[in-house]
Amino acid sequence: MSVRVRFAPSPTGFVHIGSLRTALYNYLFAKKMGGTYLLRVEDTDQTRFVDGAIENMLNAMNWGGVNHTEGVVLDENGKITQKGEYGPYIQSERLDIYKKYIEKLLDEGKAYYCFCSKERLDEVREKQRENGENPKYDGHCKSLTKEEIKSKIENGEEYVIRLKLPENHTIKFTDLVRGETEFNTNDLDDQVLIKTDGFPTYHFAVVVDDYLMKITHVIRGEEWVSSTPKHVYLYEAFGWEAPTFVHLPNILNKEKKKLSKRHGDVAVEDFKKKGYLPQGLINYVALVGWSPEDNKELFTMEELENAFSVERVSKSGGVFDTEKLNWVNQHYIKDADDNYLTDLAIPFLIEEGFITEDEVDSKYEFLKGMVSVLKEKLQYVKEITSHANIFFGDKVELETDECREFLNLEHMPTLIGALLEKVDNAEKVDEEFVKAMFKEIQKEHGIKGKNLFMGSRIILTGQMHGPDLPKTMEVLGKDICLNRIKFVKDNLM
Ligand code: GLU
Repeated sequence: MSVRVRFAPSPTGFVHIGSLRTALYNYLFAKKMGGTYLLRVEDTDQTRFVDGAIENMLNAMNWGGVNHTEGVVLDENGKITQKGEYGPYIQSERLDIYKKYIEKLLDEGKAYYCFCSKERLDEVREKQRENGENPKYDGHCKSLTKEEIKSKIENGEEYVIRLKLPENHTIKFTDLVRGETEFNTNDLDDQVLIKTDGFPTYHFAVVVDDYLMKITHVIRGEEWVSSTPKHVYLYEAFGWEAPTFVHLPNILNKEKKKLSKRHGDVAVEDFKKKGYLPQGLINYVALVGWSPEDNKELFTMEELENAFSVERVSKSGGVFDTEKLNWVNQHYIKDADDNYLTDLAIPFLIEEGFITEDEVDSKYEFLKGMVSVLKEKLQYVKEITSHANIFFGDKVELETDECREFLNLEHMPTLIGALLEKVDNAEKVDEEFVKAMFKEIQKEHGIKGKNLFMGSRIILTGQMHGPDLPKTMEVLGKDICLNRIKFVKDNLM
């Protein structure tokens, strides 16, 4: 039987980094096993539905390169569409299917109508809590007669349909991460399968769909472990074989708490907006909860596809370490193509007022030059805005008092004179010219080391430290370099 796995998000808004990882592990598992990875939308909780959330989710997956070949996709115009032979893949379009299957359970006495009001259920639970019992449904409607049910429905009474769990029945399943797990039905609730609005609950829909879509492995977050026995019992009740389960550990913050919005960036969108590269985020996220065999840390998607194994997914939560993410991402930025990075950097530079929208085309080559000089400093692309100032303007602003003191050193008038003369006479200021110029100044004036290099840097950028100076000067070009040297000579010395 060929492997079929699914990522089954609920479209409730932003895409949590944990969802990206769940999708990724499903994708990697399918790739490794030569199987199929599909995406199903679980929108049975209509109260939580957020407009645009499906598109958001699909865009985030496309961005990360976690591509599915079946299920809900975006067409070339960005519109939601579906492909595959097991559809529809959006649960709200499958209500007829759930109806058919709930009737089967009702007919076989494995599910029952429940007319209890919310008030009654609250009361029952409250009492159970007072008695130190685990709150669960007390079976009040379990043995209503057919006639009673019929007349209540005809009276327009609201109802749900519940799963009828047998008493004292053992439910077992194997989880590839957690091993064998056993539950007794006495500890479980008669789960609602169909809600008052006629929609199935997640628990019912997930089982029917995973069965009908021939899912072989359910790979999902550990928050669903405690629901799994109910699901397994439903498979039993239908006489279906259950899939294999893989529950992924939570992603934790540094305080070992579940990573949540309150602790900063958790949405894929947050990282994208800061200019993390998809390759960097995917690489890092793959490592949160999975450890490769050889402690290798940098993986392309293709390498992940070969290296990933469910056996090496850890049981305990993985800590999301932003510093490590930054380190991984920096690696991809260093390796990235300059045009690609420049396109990513431009919106940040516009936003911070370094350039205007209209200047983008005419300044593109200059911006690309700047990006190529600065990229080794960036952990994520947005950081370019904190390094970019030295590339703009004819004036020089001294960064610190130390810079000012440096300008007062004895050799500085000679240095600035030499710089002025040589740059002025240059045909073109490029990296090669600048390197040769420094050699000449050293030879002609005996200024060397820190006195030469830091001194020149302060004159040209107002900073003691910064990116490669010859490259920076090449990007600035002759005119700006000259203007800055003059400015410093006339105003700051
Ligand atoms: N719709 C569920 C969620 O968003 C999916 C759980 C599952 O994969 O079974 O978490």
